Amino acid sequence: MAKVTILVVEDEAAIQQLVSYNLIKAGFHVSCADTGEEALECLLKEDIDCILLDLMLPGISGVDVCRKIRAKSTSDDRYIPIIMLTAKGEEEDIIAGLECGADDYITKPFSPKVLEARIKAVLRRGFERNKSDQEDNQTTIMVDNLEINRGRHEVMLGGEKLHLTMTEFGILALLAAKPGWVFTRQQIIDSVRGYDFLITPRAIDVQIFGLRKKLGEAGSLIETIRGVGYRYRPKQ
Ligand code: CA
Repeated sequence: MAKVTILVVEDEAAIQQLVSYNLIKAGFHVSCADTGEEALECLLKEDIDCILLDLMLPGISGVDVCRKIRAKSTSDDRYIPIIMLTAKGEEEDIIAGLECGADDYITKPFSPKVLEARIKAVLRRGFERNKSDQEDNQTTIMVDNLEINRGRHEVMLGGEKLHLTMTEFGILALLAAKPGWVFTRQQIIDSVRGYDFLITPRAIDVQIFGLRKKLGEAGSLIETIRGVGYRYRPKQ
């Protein structure tokens, strides 16, 4: 298998070197960019498999870089996963990044092992993405002991039918279709709008609370990502 190439976009030389060193040690091929502009140029010239993107960059911000990359890619482009590198307290930026198409984020300082695991996870998810995009059009989602039938608006848990509201159903179907993907409250609102009157992020929290209660023990499959949103537990 060809080496996986990671593009590290980071303006702080010390961090860029440390991250690169660890990635090379882990067996990846590494390209570096100091600015967002440089990163976008590099994407035109090189075959990049995954991007580590610092949010606080001189010139165009990490979030804008992310937006530009996602705006450009068309359906026949290869999907390049993006992991944002963030500092503590950048929750608003993390949310903005996820909403414009970043796949994950990691908070500095991070351990090389955790970074490596995150990269492998997004690469795997990126690989499965086309497959799951196709599956989105299918009506039934089977995950853990849940069977979610979109056409019939029906959820079976361990063979027993659950009685969910339309909004609860919409949220569960959204999250369960992509285990491991973090959805912000705004993304959830956008996705389930039209089922019920439901506008505020707080209303999402209330819906999730109700949904977990109905799921019983399986309620823990829906994880809270503090300061960001929710996700369905990643596949083990
Ligand atoms: Ca920086």
